[in-house]
Amino acid sequence: METGMEFVNVSYTWPGGKGLHAVNLAVAPGDFVMIAGPSGSGKSTLLRLAARLEEPESGVIRFQGTPLAEYAPPLLRRRIGFVQQTPVVAEGSVRDNLLLPFGFAVNRGEAKPDDEALRGWLERLALAGVRLEDDARALSVGQRQRLCIIRSLLLRPALLLMDEPTSALDRESRGIVERMAEELNAAGMTVLMVSHSEYCPVAVHRCLTVRDGRVEEAA
Ligand code: ADP
Ligand code: MG
Repeated sequence: METGMEFVNVSYTWPGGKGLHAVNLAVAPGDFVMIAGPSGSGKSTLLRLAARLEEPESGVIRFQGTPLAEYAPPLLRRRIGFVQQTPVVAEGSVRDNLLLPFGFAVNRGEAKPDDEALRGWLERLALAGVRLEDDARALSVGQRQRLCIIRSLLLRPALLLMDEPTSALDRESRGIVERMAEELNAAGMTVLMVSHSEYCPVAVHRCLTVRDGRVEEAA
């Protein structure tokens, strides 16, 4: 059976003793999985492991049937988009930041989106007032969040991990991001989204709850 992402008995411990305990999870291609749970329960840890920013202490995580550890990191970064809880913005303009992934060797063959395409993305995410020349570090947190969302999508990942992508957004922008995630999922992208909000779209196939480092399937 083709698999999207699979956690088999995955444990991870941070210095200090918190972490995840024996997580088993199978995400099928095309799933839309919502992840909720109290603050500090391990939601971000779960996504960081899925993006291979951390390595499991025991157990294995497979993506499309292959353990994450066997992928060349640049290839993995391209197939798995990760919108981190705290948006990471590099020095330079908005354009520099959006095109950052196209500078990696593995993406050299990919056609870079032109300015018109980039502006289209900004408009789609209610960032029409932001110019491509603007200093990315001068943006508000909510604007940075959306910048990072666009950056994660330009290479059309098979799997999109989003860690509270709407936490700094107002209601309207939140709705725009949530609807976009639904559209991407409808077009075939697998989505794992951590969210505190009440958001539960029709498209969601599963809701998971993380409690004390354990992942539970919600009803
Ligand atoms: P959530 O995203 O659900 O709020 P996290 O996955 O960020 O929770 O964190 C889970 C637990 O791991 C928390 O108790 C947190 O304090 C701890 N933790 C997270 N990151 C680190 C770190 N870099 N070093 C030590 N402990 C950490
Ligand atoms: Mg978190």
